[in-house]
Amino acid sequence: MSSRFQAPRGTFDILPGEAGARARVYEAAASAFERASYGRIETPIFEDTELFSRGVGESTDVVQKEMFTFIDQGDRSLTLRPEATAAVCRAYIEHGMHRLPQPVKLWSWAPFWRHERPQAGRFRQFHQLNAEAIGTDSPLADAELILLLGDLLGGLGVPGLRLRLSSLGTPSSRAAYREELTAYLRAHEAELAPEVRERLAENPLRAFDSKDPDTRAAMAEAPLMVDRLDADDAEHFAEVRRLLDRSGIDYELDGTLVRGLDYYTRTVFEFESDRLGAQAALGGGGRYDGLVEQLGGPSTPACGWAAGIERILLALDEEADEPGVDVFVAASEDQRERAFALVRELRRAGLRAELDLAERSLKGQMKQADRLGARAAIVLDEQQPAQLRDMTSGEQRELDLARAVEELGP
Ligand code: AMP
Repeated sequence: MSSRFQAPRGTFDILPGEAGARARVYEAAASAFERASYGRIETPIFEDTELFSRGVGESTDVVQKEMFTFIDQGDRSLTLRPEATAAVCRAYIEHGMHRLPQPVKLWSWAPFWRHERPQAGRFRQFHQLNAEAIGTDSPLADAELILLLGDLLGGLGVPGLRLRLSSLGTPSSRAAYREELTAYLRAHEAELAPEVRERLAENPLRAFDSKDPDTRAAMAEAPLMVDRLDADDAEHFAEVRRLLDRSGIDYELDGTLVRGLDYYTRTVFEFESDRLGAQAALGGGGRYDGLVEQLGGPSTPACGWAAGIERILLALDEEADEPGVDVFVAASEDQRERAFALVRELRRAGLRAELDLAERSLKGQMKQADRLGARAAIVLDEQQPAQLRDMTSGEQRELDLARAVEELGP
């Protein structure tokens, strides 16, 4: 039977065999955030479109090309969230969180939507883990956040990890640098890819992200923001690096790291895995000292990151989950109700207990117990007292049902 329907392009189903690996990533993250006093936040899956166009930046790919935007019945323009930070800052402002002791540390795990060209590791609906520390400009926060993600990825066993780090300065120091970079790009215009040339005036830093070989060759000699930091930004960055050095984490200074969203200031970073091919970024982030104010809140420095769950799972490449059953209760037709009650009792006692819901014969039920990999089976048959069968050895003996839980305990 072939179905006319498929999951929409760029989306996927999470099937039972894949749920366990995902749950392990979630548990590891939740535990790490709890130990570091980050509170869980959930925001709506859609927001006013303007929140993202203002927050993420009009000149970014996300806003120009990738948002799932729709007009609702009340003629409002709404957008399925393409990223977390703008929405979390909106919530911070809306709930007056600036009146709480600062920083406010928040984390989330949620789906996001971007209309990108799907490929391995790139989807139109994907999931991210996010962390934000809002209300401090201390380099301690930058370092804490970077190490939280590094320790999480390392602890999960993500292979081939690499951390790249840079600083983008502040809007004032960046303005002079943008002019210098724009002049450099104009001087090399003939070597640049058309899409870089088109955005030269609007977003010159994105030239560093180009995959075009001629553009990359031209950018090899380009001036870097990290060499143009003013004294305060340079000291801030030096302190972030001292903290990371003392922690023992490996990282690479990479002045070509610019990141795709407009709101970053000062520290930016990205974790990659060499097992991921073209879409190597596992997660990244940085400081966004101007964003809360830009969205109508008080002037509030902040820092955060986002990591892609599907990319982490791809890099981990875990085996599919094996379903587990401690005991299968098989019953002849007239013993079904007894089996049903017994299974409920066993489950309440903490055992993974299963019975046949498809009205198979006793023989068929034993086959089913085998297929499920049950450790043991209880056989209820009016012809004989209850039996306990060890499914590995095939040994079978009489069982006092009142003692079933004890006998089957781990
Ligand atoms: P960004 O918000 O663009 O910095 O993305 C943060 C992380 O989310 C990336 O490093 C990826 O791991 C993941 N990510 C971003 N876009 C996608 C996508 N379209 N599909 C899957 N994962 C994504």
